[in-house]
Amino acid sequence: MMHLAEIITIGDELLYGQTLDTNSHFLSQQLTSAGFRVWKHTSIGDTREEILEMLNIATKRSHIILITGGLGPTKDDITKKTLADFFGVPLRRDEGVMAHLDRLFSSRGRIMNELNKAQADVPQNCRVLQNDVGTAPCMWLEGENFVVVSMPGVPSETRFLAEKRVVPALIAHFEPQPIFHKKIKTVGIPEAILAERIADWENALPAHLKLAYLPQMGRVTLRLTTTGKTMAEMEAEVWAQVEKVLPLIEENVYGFDEDELEDAVSQLLSQKKLSLGVAESCTGGFLSHLLTKNSGASAFYWGSIVAYSNLIKVKTLGVKPETLQAFGAVSEQTATEMAKGVREVLGTDIGIAVTGIAGPEGGTPEKPVGTVWIAYSDAQDCKAKKLTLTTNRHLNINFAANIVLDWLRVSLLKK
Ligand code: AMP
Ligand code: MG
Repeated sequence: MMHLAEIITIGDELLYGQTLDTNSHFLSQQLTSAGFRVWKHTSIGDTREEILEMLNIATKRSHIILITGGLGPTKDDITKKTLADFFGVPLRRDEGVMAHLDRLFSSRGRIMNELNKAQADVPQNCRVLQNDVGTAPCMWLEGENFVVVSMPGVPSETRFLAEKRVVPALIAHFEPQPIFHKKIKTVGIPEAILAERIADWENALPAHLKLAYLPQMGRVTLRLTTTGKTMAEMEAEVWAQVEKVLPLIEENVYGFDEDELEDAVSQLLSQKKLSLGVAESCTGGFLSHLLTKNSGASAFYWGSIVAYSNLIKVKTLGVKPETLQAFGAVSEQTATEMAKGVREVLGTDIGIAVTGIAGPEGGTPEKPVGTVWIAYSDAQDCKAKKLTLTTNRHLNINFAANIVLDWLRVSLLKK
């Protein structure tokens, strides 16, 4: 039996568009991989009527109702009281939560006021799932055919609770059929061309293996999904298919599941024991941010020079003023001198550079917004490449950084 789950996020800020509802996104991922079928997301305001209305609807049509938000100590957070009213029970003060609050406050050298203490009040019929990372309790409430779980809205708390408390408890309660997903992450090949290249493989897939194409920012994730067997059986079956498709797209695959492009580059640089220096102009440090996201980056990443102005390109990277004058800051020549310069200044094996017109201003007919030059330099090799991106600044910064990473990845594979 497939258990239906729905997610209700509570908070006026979500409806005003001030806060992006990342909780639904995360909770859906968690529930789906546990084998539940999420079929509704709803966001509502902090009003008693709306919360009651949603509880009435959701508990009639879903087995699992996950709620986030409205659990703060202040008057605007009313979820808890409304839940108690929905189940027709009073609030009780939970000793476990009280002890947790005591510890938390004394460890921070703070004293609880009445509003803080009231966070230990929960509906009479609820089971508390301990929230180690915050003050608001997580509450598990059962009806005849459903379970309602109420969690705080702070995303880091929602995540902790979902992973460590809620999903394990739901699995124990409902014993869902596991689902197995394998994601193959590709880059540098458009969706339609990818589909063409793997068409024979795709057409030969058994009917119970579902394939999805998930494109995002110049990358396409292929996701294979199956259910109905044990985890080990599903994994073996999916892997056999992955091994068949990989040779067709070898150079475009940078990883699996949650791997990111920067992880692939990091791994290659570490494996090959090569050091990297970065010269950034239009990406303003974003490329460096991606390269330093994971711990252990110091094994290969030595540093960056964010040379945004021409003066700094000359002073810190040794770009020649004549080069800037003759070809401009966004040119093959400048990008190349930046890559060589950063390699020299930082003393690294490899130097990479990116310079471009992110927009929305600054474009010319010869060099419209979205024109970007990237360059690569090592002891043997020096090369540059022109990119023609979009008119959107945010996208251009993102695209440029990711294209540089992929270019670096492919260069490293050949080394
Ligand atoms: P609350 O539990 O309602 O006190 O929420 C605390 C904070 O968490 C809010 O001020 C928001 O910044 C954030 N938040 C609440 N709901 C969500 C959500 N669905 N997605 C992302 N952030 C949220
Ligand atoms: Mg709130």
